[in-house]
Amino acid sequence: MTDQLQRFLFDDFQIRGEIAHANDSFNEIVKNHDFTPEVANVVGELLVATTLLTAMLKFEGKIAVQLQGDGPLKMAVINADQNLQVRGTARVEGETAGLSFSQLVGKGHMMITITPDDGERYQGIVDLNNDSLSSCLENYFQQSEQLPTRVILHAGIAPKAQAAGILIQTLPASSETHEEDFQHVCALAHTVKAEELYDLTPEDLLFRLYHQETVRLFDTQPITYKCSCSKERCLSSLASIAPEEINELIKEHGAIEMHCEYCASDYRFEVNDLQILLGGTDNQQH
Ligand SMILES: [Zn+2]
Repeated sequence: MTDQLQRFLFDDFQIRGEIAHANDSFNEIVKNHDFTPEVANVVGELLVATTLLTAMLKFEGKIAVQLQGDGPLKMAVINADQNLQVRGTARVEGETAGLSFSQLVGKGHMMITITPDDGERYQGIVDLNNDSLSSCLENYFQQSEQLPTRVILHAGIAPKAQAAGILIQTLPASSETHEEDFQHVCALAHTVKAEELYDLTPEDLLFRLYHQETVRLFDTQPITYKCSCSKERCLSSLASIAPEEINELIKEHGAIEMHCEYCASDYRFEVNDLQILLGGTDNQQH
């Protein structure tokens, strides 16, 4: 399956849904890190969760979904934008072999930060007191929008990087949503096996689950891996450091080196590259 997000709607119920496939993007993230299978699972699920969330919360701008806790997985984050361009990283301290989700993250929270191109930054926080990331996300929707939501996430790196998920949600302001319709749709969604979720196209998957219902499919949206780091961005972050301090660093190390923890790119700035930051005189070679 190519990386994409498929939205759908049940004609006869006040229920909508999304299916996300993100194998290639997940593979890019995994390639740039040295994750254990346990950590990779959480990062893969977080990647899928972020795309499902991004497509559901309509905004123009950036979103970061971050897990922070006191377990060995100190931090995991996925960045995305409204076009579903994604990147991610994680920070681990200590042993992770054989640990479950709640053992990996420990006590902590999931933080959702939306930075719109125009308007106020929004931040939502959910406690990580659940056994799975999917139930944390379900709690988020329940708390923030009072919308009953079911989330199924699967990710893994053996034998290859695979990540996919389904989200089922009642439509906002749909007083006629019947509890039993929602339970019926969710119960069927829960019969899906990880392999089916990874391999079936959204059409085939929806047919497999809901061939007795009328399901309307919308246009798919591609999910793409893209890191936003660049030489220019590094330079602009260096611009906030005092020129004397930059001179000091160059004297000490011969150059300033910066590393992107998302895509593992290295940037190296020598004195000539930093002339603008150092006051623009080009006679500082000696
Ligand atoms: Zn990068």
